[in-house]
Amino acid sequence: MSNPFDAGFDTSQCLIGGRWIGASGGKTLPVEDPSTGKEIGRIARGGKPEIEAAVDAAQLARDGEWGQLSAAERGRLLARIGRAVEDHIEWLANLEAHDVGKPLTQARADARALARYLEFYAGAADKIHGETIPYLNDYTVYTLREPHGVTAHIIPWNYPMQILGRSVGAALAMGNAAVLKPAEEASLTALAFARIAVDCGLPDGALNVVPGLGEEAGAALCGHPGIQHVSFTGSVETGRKVQEAASRNVIPVTLELGGKSPQIVFADADLDRALPFLVNAGIQNAGQTCSASSRILVEASIHKEVVRLMSERYKALTVGAAIEDRAVGPLISERQKNIVQGFLAEADEDGLAPVAEGQMPKSAPMGGHYVRPTLYGDVDPGHALARDEIFGPVQVIIPFRDEEEAVAIANGTDYGLVAGVWTRDGGCQMRMARSIRSGQVFINNYGAGGGVELPFGGVGKSGHGREKGFEALYGFSALKTVAVWHGH
Ligand code: NAD
Repeated sequence: MSNPFDAGFDTSQCLIGGRWIGASGGKTLPVEDPSTGKEIGRIARGGKPEIEAAVDAAQLARDGEWGQLSAAERGRLLARIGRAVEDHIEWLANLEAHDVGKPLTQARADARALARYLEFYAGAADKIHGETIPYLNDYTVYTLREPHGVTAHIIPWNYPMQILGRSVGAALAMGNAAVLKPAEEASLTALAFARIAVDCGLPDGALNVVPGLGEEAGAALCGHPGIQHVSFTGSVETGRKVQEAASRNVIPVTLELGGKSPQIVFADADLDRALPFLVNAGIQNAGQTCSASSRILVEASIHKEVVRLMSERYKALTVGAAIEDRAVGPLISERQKNIVQGFLAEADEDGLAPVAEGQMPKSAPMGGHYVRPTLYGDVDPGHALARDEIFGPVQVIIPFRDEEEAVAIANGTDYGLVAGVWTRDGGCQMRMARSIRSGQVFINNYGAGGGVELPFGGVGKSGHGREKGFEALYGFSALKTVAVWHGH
């Protein structure tokens, strides 16, 4: 394969208080390219000492230069960083393609989304304000929105740039100082972003980045008494641990966890419009998307037709190395591949056969973690394929009789992150939007192209708290009420 990898910087360092330093004892972790399974570099294996130093540096920043900036000055700085990210799209996309196995088109879209988050939160920084509250006539009462102080950000490997953009972008806009722990499988773009931010003049300590293992650096960060808020995106299992650790310090937590998001297709739907959304929402990022639509609920009268149309599309999907930029790249790791293949093997044992699969060309490099996109045509809603988050390019189609049954199936998992509804019937659209238990509902679309402006988060085991949009700024701030007695 061409395109030998060169990150363009020393990837084995942490950013702490404006200084780039290695982890104590020179400890590092490998960086693996999921397209080839080969090691392409090393990152720091930060732990408790680095986390302690990073939290101290963030507190110093809050008490110092960063904390003194006005909201408008913070916004101007974030805007400058956003423009610099725009200038580095190809660099960032190339890093992400090699680190995460993301096809280049998707990696570029993620880098642009990072720039867009910064642009959005730059503009919002000086537009968040308190209010005055009518009270007794001898009082004037008003509220202030204040930063929490030091915020912790623990992010996963599937969309590092987008998730750090929405989380760190909003926290900095509100004036918090951030400590970011990227995923051990994918830290390169977080480090590259930090370099861009430092070059743009972000004051020392406003953003600190400590790569490392979850049980070491992650656990040390979310249990640290010096942080005042944790934003976590990842699995339900880890989310529980993060919340337990935060509860010991009685601090607020935002949990963005998994999903089993349905798209519900009624017989009157515009199938030409729906089809690309039905398939892409399942195979984008090889299905490793928290808001992936892994369940397609279809009204019985058009079930056969939708199976046929989706199958046609599946058969045309090809899998390949990230830099070949095919429809589907590799999964992040051999472990993730084994998990996905475990689901497929279980389905096979239960007598379920796929109705269509994508193509795996011989050119796919040996050692990469590839799984063919796999579509199942008629799956019982109680089966593991239809109930559990697979986090791979696997979708199931489930037929339903009527609206009531569609709602029951849609709401029949532990999750509630995103849902899509496809129908031309306005009444049905409104009833479904009300009845579905999830953080977002899309009518005749799915995902709204990312929707930086749109509050995002889950109910049930998909988590709690909201990121994106203005809601994130409320989450990254504390409300103070000031009551002034001044007499009549
Ligand atoms: P994960 O929970 O294993 O890891 C996420 C992050 O948590 C990593 O940075 C990891 O190092 C850290 N971590 C692990 N153990 C920790 C601990 N004990 N204390 C503190 N931090 C710890 O998740 P993953 O496998 O990387 O990501 C996949 C999961 O993330 C899926 O379930 C997916 O649905 C979910 N996800 C959700 C969203 C969302 O916005 N809702 C977005 C992306 C991914």
